[in-house]
Amino acid sequence: MDITEVRVKLLESHPDKLRAFASVTIDDFLVIRDLKVIDGAHGLFIAMPSRKLCDRCPSCGGKNHLRSRFCNDCGKRLRGDRGAHDQRGRVRLYADIAHPIHQRARNFVEERVLQAYREEIKRSKEEGYVAQSFDDLDYESYEPAKAAR
Ligand SMILES: [Zn+2]
Repeated sequence: MDITEVRVKLLESHPDKLRAFASVTIDDFLVIRDLKVIDGAHGLFIAMPSRKLCDRCPSCGGKNHLRSRFCNDCGKRLRGDRGAHDQRGRVRLYADIAHPIHQRARNFVEERVLQAYREEIKRSKEEGYVAQSFDDLDYESYEPAKAAR
């Protein structure tokens, strides 16, 4: 497997730890979008695309994010401790949409994306720099709390 293209959208003025969005193309065949470059306590790392986990309101059946305290549809208060727990006893709020199978794959993706990220930063300092176009990015899908790991 090879990553044949990496696109990076820098977010230099972003207030929290999110530094960039990225997409990777695998073997000129498949694109995975919505990877994130995050500046963590131990340096830069890559977060894979993920989605919020939801459950249904016991009163009306409406769908709510596990962190919601009130139902979006009927307004009733929801139980605080919902959802499945991980090995460390924390509630799982997100599920990966795409992720590497093992550490070697993770390192491979991370190295390629971080390399592209550094090159993009270099390019961004050149005269006449035009940011890569990411018309379809959903900035709203990012929650700062996710970066705190
Ligand atoms: Zn409800």
